[in-house]
Amino acid sequence: MHTYFISDLHLTPERPNAIKAFTDFMTLKAHSAEKLYILGDLFEYWIGDDAASLIGAEPLLSMMRAASTHTDCYFIAGNRDFLVRDDFSNMTGFKILPDETVVDLYGTPTLLLHGDSLCTDDQKHQQFRTQMMTNNQFCDHFLSLPIPERIETAKQARMQSGEHKAGISMDIMDVTLEAVDQAFNDHHVSQMIHGHTHRQATHDHNGKTRYVLGDWDKTSSVITANANGIVIKNEKI
Ligand code: MN
Repeated sequence: MHTYFISDLHLTPERPNAIKAFTDFMTLKAHSAEKLYILGDLFEYWIGDDAASLIGAEPLLSMMRAASTHTDCYFIAGNRDFLVRDDFSNMTGFKILPDETVVDLYGTPTLLLHGDSLCTDDQKHQQFRTQMMTNNQFCDHFLSLPIPERIETAKQARMQSGEHKAGISMDIMDVTLEAVDQAFNDHHVSQMIHGHTHRQATHDHNGKTRYVLGDWDKTSSVITANANGIVIKNEKI
């Protein structure tokens, strides 16, 4: 028995290779696992469950739904798709978990999170987290807007995010060791899995282990966990 973890596919009709790779993964591989966790940024952007068809997501949602009939499927939202709600869960059969969830992974308590909360040097992003992502009032209001207005706002936000990323150093975009230590301590775990930084790696933090999923651009990035341990693998897509 094994469990899969993936994140940061950033699916959009403009990235057909990633869509094809996700389709292959969901239809050919997912069923072999007892559990599948998607740790955020599955979609390049998500402006509401009622707008899924506008970004061409409906076939993907039904594929996810099919996978969820034989595999327990879970979703932790990322900073791109934090507006997924109950309808998304109903359409896909994926259970939405809060960011920073501890699961028992074959006997080892393991913290699962998207990972952007660990990038505490990126103050602009932390501001976005506080004021928008984790602000229910903001989210409820945004989701109540007419869809064309939401599309326009999301476009502007993505443009600003692009400018922001280009303008700051790559170090700031990575996690800080302080935030990682804090997360290990807060949740009393010695193992965590996250994505967001797109830097696939296995990091040792004084005997505690942090597994980082990569994105799905030139290669896929999949973590397979079983009773023997954890393996991260990428394959050309
Ligand atoms: Mn992210």
